[in-house]
Amino acid sequence: MTHLTNLLDYDPDGLAAYCGTLGEKPFRARQLQRWIHQMGAADFDGMTDLAKSLREKLKTRATIAAPAAITDHLSADGTRKWLLDVGNGNAVETVYIPEETRGTLCVSSQAGCAVNCRFCSTGKQGFSRNLTLGEIIGQLWMAEFALRRDLGREGKNERVITNVVMMGMGEPLLNFDNVVGAMRLMLDDNAYGLSRRRVTLSTSGVVPMMDRLGQELPVALAVSLHAPNDALRDVLVPLNKKYPLRELMAACERYLEVAPRDFITFEYCMLDGVNDTEAHARELVALTRDVPCKFNLIPFNPFPESGLLRSKDPQIKRFAQILLDAGLVTTVRKTRGDDIDAACGQLAGEVQDRTRLAQRGKFGKIAVEVRTV
Ligand code: SAH
Ligand code: SF4
Repeated sequence: MTHLTNLLDYDPDGLAAYCGTLGEKPFRARQLQRWIHQMGAADFDGMTDLAKSLREKLKTRATIAAPAAITDHLSADGTRKWLLDVGNGNAVETVYIPEETRGTLCVSSQAGCAVNCRFCSTGKQGFSRNLTLGEIIGQLWMAEFALRRDLGREGKNERVITNVVMMGMGEPLLNFDNVVGAMRLMLDDNAYGLSRRRVTLSTSGVVPMMDRLGQELPVALAVSLHAPNDALRDVLVPLNKKYPLRELMAACERYLEVAPRDFITFEYCMLDGVNDTEAHARELVALTRDVPCKFNLIPFNPFPESGLLRSKDPQIKRFAQILLDAGLVTTVRKTRGDDIDAACGQLAGEVQDRTRLAQRGKFGKIAVEVRTV
């Protein structure tokens, strides 16, 4: 069998180059890209404005293939989580979070993660591999067109997903080229056409790659802080030993010179008795004094064997108030989809679910399943 080229693996320049190898002009690549990323075409027959000879050529050489969904769960609050098969027993998760004025997709960048943050279940499972460009953009492609189908909006280029956050499994800046290539498609007017402000990349603080992102594709940036001093951050986010807070804050300041938003979002996972005291909050205010920023406090989402607890609500309120009093915009993230383990830090690509759900015939269908772990 001849090897078929997966067209989802190409960013805009890559697709133009591929079409060049077939003797086609760049505008053909744009047409093809619109069929794939604006209309959700999965085969070539329906691409009626392409010459029949080109369609036939593509049929023998190329394919449009996203990772297959192993499970598809709908939470009571409308959050939807897909578990996607990326081969060799690896699976990654993609989460859609509908809100009144927007629809956000949380996209994974790696199978597992090498950073191994103390409070993250993706980190606990270790690192398997980087996702390919096609596996990253394939999450948006699969979700956008599944949602359109369900809403009866097929055949119209009206976006359901209005925002993307690179906040799923993995550290996106440690899979730089594939993540940036996928984000180029998210931003391209002949693909998803999202503005840079509506695509947010979240990093645990890979300082040199933050600079590279600023040069190559400055999108909105979220930085996972989680601790106000190096001693504590070394424990919670081991990458801190390599890129300590002083360097991280300086990198944030540099990023803001090119960023599409005039602030950095700092994420801070609230861990009971670990990083949530009023002294920690005051230290945080001092640490971030020179960085225009907003704070997003994430109540810790427990997972088995973490040995950690979520901060109590009154403590989160007191913590937030200190930041607010210092003039910092602070929000507490609403936990969404925790009944289907779709909340932050609960994404572990539970492959073991596969057989159980398959036996119950839930492949590819929406299964409302309230898990009790
Ligand atoms: N690797 C990137 C992006 C993925 S994690 C990063 O670390 O930024 C998205 C956010 O969820 C990060 O801020 C991460 O620290 C946070 N998170 C991880 N585990 C969590 C948990 N168990 N509860 C709450 N937030 C968690
Ligand atoms: Fe990796 Fe982010 Fe989880 Fe840390 S929080 S282990 S960087 S996915």
